Amino acid sequence: MQPIDFRSDTVTRPSAEMRRIMVSAEVGDDVFHDDPSIDHLEHYAAELLGFEAALFAPSGTQTNLIALLVHCQRGDEYLVGQDAHTYKYEGGGAAVLGSIQPQPISNQPDGSIALTDIAAAIKPDDFHFARTRLLALENTIGGKVLPLDYLGAAEKLARSRGLSLHLDGARLFNASVKLGIDAQQITRHFDSVSVCMSKGLGAPVGSLLLGSRDFIHAGRRWRKMLGGGMRQAGILAAAGEYALQNNVQRLAEDHANAALLANGLAQVPALKVTLPQTNIVFVDVAAEHAEKFAKHLAANNILVTGSTRQRWVTHLDVDRAQVETALRIAHEYFDVN
Ligand SMILES: *Cc1c(COP(=O)(O)O)cnc(C)c1O
Repeated sequence: MQPIDFRSDTVTRPSAEMRRIMVSAEVGDDVFHDDPSIDHLEHYAAELLGFEAALFAPSGTQTNLIALLVHCQRGDEYLVGQDAHTYKYEGGGAAVLGSIQPQPISNQPDGSIALTDIAAAIKPDDFHFARTRLLALENTIGGKVLPLDYLGAAEKLARSRGLSLHLDGARLFNASVKLGIDAQQITRHFDSVSVCMSKGLGAPVGSLLLGSRDFIHAGRRWRKMLGGGMRQAGILAAAGEYALQNNVQRLAEDHANAALLANGLAQVPALKVTLPQTNIVFVDVAAEHAEKFAKHLAANNILVTGSTRQRWVTHLDVDRAQVETALRIAHEYFDVN
């Protein structure tokens, strides 16, 4: 049996149709600004998400870092959730490479950062403090969708205090599809947005940074400095554009599969399942079963991450029948034990 891979929505492989489009993509040297496929993707994405300009980069880690480097100078600080990818899972890049101080703030159970906490963390203009410049939010965060009215309120607060706003929208479209809205209803609250095409959208490589023309112009310099100036990468951009055009609305299937999976696992008393809003299911496994259950899944070619706290992620390379197979295998373990 082929493995059924729930480890992440990054494990998807380009489809035959996507590969066909990659093969025929027109390319040139993008450092000379000569790659028509990258150019086309950047224009397409900027228009799609309501920005003046966009920048194609190898990863979401790099687009987030570029954004922080453009928004903040040495000695500035950004406000960010304690659980945010930008803060927690990107090697501390903003501090290491930008001399930018993170001010992490606890995330609320719904993934937001409380407005009162944001207000309290903004430093006065005093040479004892780093200069607070930016509020960075993430949506979806841990698979949770930030409420639209929260985004409006956070923007209002940030603007009133002279802060810019960045969105880590690695899974932006999971949020917009879940809410049944145009993604611009989310992105319009931000000065810059980072989006991954290499997660649930199924492209092999690639993220986009969106912002004003000046912002992206400054970002292009940082991208080169960080080693993200790629040459005939139009092959990848073509995959990314295909992903944006064909694989957004279908994220609803991943959400439905995650719900099916969660409800099935929740029938097991030894599993405490957090019902998912989008495509990520967290499962707390009773300690006495954790290791053996993980082994049982692995032995049956079901791949997940974690043992006492498992993460199951649905994506376009896992269909409903495979979710049902995985559930049958999971239930098998608990029927015998
Ligand atoms: C995956 C992810 C990123 C980084 O993307 P890479 O392309 O893996 O560097 C950033 N933010 C969030 C929320 C992510 O899930």
